[in-house]
Amino acid sequence: MRTYKIAAIPGDGIGTEVVDAGVEVLDALAKREGTFAFHFDHFAWGGEYYKKHGRMMPENGRDLIRHHDAILFGSAGHPEIPDHITLWGLRLAICQPFDQYANVRPTRILPGITSPLRAVKDTELDWVIVRENSEGEYAGVGGRVHQGSPLEAATDVAIFTRAGVERVMRFAFGLARSRPRKLLTVVTKSNAQRHAMVMWDEIAAEIAREFPDVTSDKMLVDAMTMRMVIRPQSLDTIVATNLHADILSDLAAALAGSLGIAPTANLNPERNFPSMFEPIHGSAFDIMGKGIANPVGTFWSGVMMLEHLGENAAGRRLMKAIERVTVDPALHTPDLGGSANTRKVTDAVISAIRADNT
Ligand code: NAD
Ligand code: MN
Repeated sequence: MRTYKIAAIPGDGIGTEVVDAGVEVLDALAKREGTFAFHFDHFAWGGEYYKKHGRMMPENGRDLIRHHDAILFGSAGHPEIPDHITLWGLRLAICQPFDQYANVRPTRILPGITSPLRAVKDTELDWVIVRENSEGEYAGVGGRVHQGSPLEAATDVAIFTRAGVERVMRFAFGLARSRPRKLLTVVTKSNAQRHAMVMWDEIAAEIAREFPDVTSDKMLVDAMTMRMVIRPQSLDTIVATNLHADILSDLAAALAGSLGIAPTANLNPERNFPSMFEPIHGSAFDIMGKGIANPVGTFWSGVMMLEHLGENAAGRRLMKAIERVTVDPALHTPDLGGSANTRKVTDAVISAIRADNT
């Protein structure tokens, strides 16, 4: 029997609560399938580790997880530590060296969930956002001088490389091709940013020629926010830069009912390194420790992990169990207007997995 080695990195805040729930559900699923197993290694890295050791993960941290089949991640973010330290010290310290350049973020209105877009039927919103995840505005290049003086200056330089843009465009066109509508929207800001964004557009047009069966169009990012709200049916697959997609995917998550539901996969498509699966939300300081975090985003990330591992039938079973649970308002957590807690939702998903006889 195949055993998948998974590195579980819960991080901080509700990250620990939802990853615990995710591990339980994935174990129950593997038992139900009976054809594979999971072996989870838990790495208690993050804010508490930082307070003891002055860093978010050990110096050889990446070596400890490099040979795992996948990474299940919670959230980097601690109330007592600046966000740029927690983010760069843990999440980006894994994503960037492991070259997880394609960040895939599906959005659907799951059965039983109400979108704030009241006019839209659940079947009319089915998107996947592909976020460039290795360079762009989050390249980490820049500097700060004369701190505290009136002459203080700071830069964050966005770096776009032809190789980086080509590979994420090719990935996005390929993903669009694999979906029924074969429709890709390329998000840009080449009216105001006249160097890198113009190259971005040019490369998109070049790669489009390799995919004659995919229809593509181009949207300025500001107008894109309007289109997502006003004509959600007109969108399917979307590709955008690191910063633009970061923002658009939080909007997408809210339009689909809650940030607590949205999943993501940080993929290294060449599989030279493990890929990483996580809910898109953060540590949620306002609700941490209360046991009411919505674990659905982590469960759905588990579905994406199963698909990546080639366990498609198990992925479908887990998605079905998730939808069985979202359809019941008594199993909604407070972010969805309900009063269920993490434990209750987790138990319900596990029961739905066990009850599924197909
Ligand atoms: P957040 O996602 O933690 O929370 C935003 C709001 O959504 C909060 O009101 C929160 O209660 C709610 N929410 C989020 N997930 C939820 C869930 N599963 N169930 C119910 N409600 C949920 O974003 P933030 O407040 O901007 O950031 C808090 C910390 O998390 C910061 O340190 C930030 O840097 C970090 N963060 C980390 C990641 C990551 O590691 N991928 C992503 C975003 C934010
Ligand atoms: Mn974000």
